[in-house]
Amino acid sequence: MRIDTFYTTEPNLSNTNRIFQEIYYQKTISKQEIAKHLKLSLPTVAQSLKELYAMGIIEKNGYFESTGGRKAQIISIAPRARIAVGVSLLRESIMITAMDLYGKPIKEKTYPIPFERSEAYYAAFGAAVNQFVDSLKYPSSDILGIGLAVQGLVSRDGQTIINGDILGYTGTDRSVFQKNLRINCRLFHDTEVAAFAELWEYPDIQNAVYIALNRNLGGALIMGRHVYLGDEASSCILEHMRLVPGGRKCYCGQRGCLEGYCSVNSLETDAGMDVDHFFEKLNAGDPHCTEVFDHYLDYLALAINNIRMVIDCEFILAGFLQPYLTEAHLQMLDSKVKHAASFKNTTFSFRRGVHGPNAAARGAALVLLIEYMNEL
Ligand SMILES: [Zn+2]
Repeated sequence: MRIDTFYTTEPNLSNTNRIFQEIYYQKTISKQEIAKHLKLSLPTVAQSLKELYAMGIIEKNGYFESTGGRKAQIISIAPRARIAVGVSLLRESIMITAMDLYGKPIKEKTYPIPFERSEAYYAAFGAAVNQFVDSLKYPSSDILGIGLAVQGLVSRDGQTIINGDILGYTGTDRSVFQKNLRINCRLFHDTEVAAFAELWEYPDIQNAVYIALNRNLGGALIMGRHVYLGDEASSCILEHMRLVPGGRKCYCGQRGCLEGYCSVNSLETDAGMDVDHFFEKLNAGDPHCTEVFDHYLDYLALAINNIRMVIDCEFILAGFLQPYLTEAHLQMLDSKVKHAASFKNTTFSFRRGVHGPNAAARGAALVLLIEYMNEL
């Protein structure tokens, strides 16, 4: 077992890194066990441990019970020795998280700052993030960076939003955000890092399609435990899969995209009410809501079936809408997907995302943490 990577390049692990990862996954381990597991000599292990102690990222935690002879010292990760900050920029707010080396959130806060393309907005954004970072009371050298999850496609180097039609900021450069921040930031496509955060929670997943049922729909393809980015960072944009030729107008300029039928925005428009009221009435058997939801699931099942014609794998249903979906709803979706399938008796499974609306910010922080740990 080793720490995942976000991008599909395999890091060349040094002994020190292998030792760090062994401690990371074992959680508590002795020097002797590390040497045995990794087939390294005790002096080699001791030298690497010395480096890791000096960096402050591992710590001694007492002694194991003696099995005869001297008691062995317990070594573990110091999870809060380094942290990363993740920020999700949304139309109506800014969500910020700080996570430790095990990817556990330390602090999270949502600032009700609605997006607008103006200097005043970027200044307010910077002030909110800086204030959040200050409240952590960490030396900046121990903060690995700020991962900024944006609603749009981002160049592979994290410098430019190459397509951000939702908020109208296509072409925006990282420097626009950076100039108001004290800590270095990097841009990420929100859906890709959100998928990465969900993948992190499921160590047994190899291949999956991640569907973010958010106000705007999103998707990502996970292959071999990597988020597949495609040749031009525009893979698995399933929200713009054409479902209904000549159908509803989409923000991308086309008609009939999945976005227009399965996003939370489209569900609320069809229902004529917000999601809270909608599910309340749906679960009470309201006929209008039942009909709207039936159509919603029909479109979602059709899209899932289309995806399955290309890639046979499981699906992670996540995002804003996920907590509203009951087991009965998922069973309805399951039977609609099976009904849409060309071949009968196909197996099919969903998993639920666990991060809810915080997935993008957490994923952006997680990528920075994992890159740091892989590059030790
Ligand atoms: Zn579209």
